[in-house]
Amino acid sequence: MAPTGPGSTGTVGPDGPARPGDGATGLVDRWGRTATDLRVSLTDRCNLRCTYCMPAEGLHWLPSPEVLTDDEVVRLVGIGVTELGVREVRFTGGEPLLRRGLEAIVGAVAALRTADGTPPETSLTTNGIGLARRAPALAAAGLGRVNVSVDSLDRAQFAELTRRDRLPDVLAGVTAAAAAGLHPVKVNAVVMRGVNEDQVRPLLRWTVAEGLHLRFIEQMPLGPAHSWDRGEMVTTEEILAELAAEFVLEPVAGRGAAPAETWTVAGTGGDGRPAATVGIIGAVTRPFCGACDRTRLTADGQVRSCLFSRTETDLRALLRDGAADAEVADAWRTAMWGKPRAHGIDDEGFRQPLRLMSAIGG
Ligand code: SAM
Ligand code: SF4
Repeated sequence: MAPTGPGSTGTVGPDGPARPGDGATGLVDRWGRTATDLRVSLTDRCNLRCTYCMPAEGLHWLPSPEVLTDDEVVRLVGIGVTELGVREVRFTGGEPLLRRGLEAIVGAVAALRTADGTPPETSLTTNGIGLARRAPALAAAGLGRVNVSVDSLDRAQFAELTRRDRLPDVLAGVTAAAAAGLHPVKVNAVVMRGVNEDQVRPLLRWTVAEGLHLRFIEQMPLGPAHSWDRGEMVTTEEILAELAAEFVLEPVAGRGAAPAETWTVAGTGGDGRPAATVGIIGAVTRPFCGACDRTRLTADGQVRSCLFSRTETDLRALLRDGAADAEVADAWRTAMWGKPRAHGIDDEGFRQPLRLMSAIGG
């Protein structure tokens, strides 16, 4: 796609072409996309150590003074929602349930209104540990829904894969989220060759039975060194073939900007219940960069225009230097104008981002 939209009155973006003038736009980029979906990382810390995401040890956590305060998070999200056209806010990490002020942050964000007066959609991506206790308060604070990561239903395999024996806590969290009305409860699963491939069908059986929405995720090069190999990763095609051995899947049209391609599971639903669905996020073999509507904020207040960016824009420094909202909004717009066209994982010169997924916010 050719670059679009440079305005004659605009400022100069990081990659040269002018972008539309200050205050005139939301988070547009020079490839014609508009970001309306904000992923906010609330911490880089975690109580699991999933092998595809974190090393077993040796991580250097962000020092506390570098992490945005609750008020700073709410102010930045507020600028995104009220001034920059953000309509969806997803809290993530690291593990966002480790953030003490989470309920207060969710409450403040749920009270925001977009320019047309609607509240933003809110969701939480979590490993589920502690969710059993906190789901009711999160729902009461105004949280819309949750995504819980469950890569295996086999306790020993889960413990090996996450390096912690916490499957019962995670499953209790899923149950509590559904009971608290955080629908639809989505389950995320990364499939790894020789590790949890045997879980593909059991996971779908379980989510169908429980009324959950399952989404498989292709493993991406965002974890510890040597944890990803393009030739070894389990592809969307392979996951579909494995599912086809037991289920009849029918593609759902109209994916829009959603990262997952979705299928309905034949023979499910009825009695007033919708048919079960399964999604696959084929970020590597079926990239969806052309429709990407995401912008990301790290726990230390850096805007990333793409999961795979190697550059960041420091909004925390602006906040702490006393910048007005309009100035912060402008820096955010400039960062997004320079969003790369695609992640380039298959390009010869591809280099993994400097931060791990856990420090970016997945
Ligand atoms: N701790 C929370 C969780 O696990 O859901 C939120 C943060 S985690 C980084 C967000 C999502 O990113 C999870 O669904 C996780 O499985 C996924 N993820 C982490 N590393 C990944 C990788 N290398 N490739 C694909 N997905 C990954
Ligand atoms: Fe923690 Fe989530 Fe990364 Fe697993 S995927 S180590 S739960 S941040």
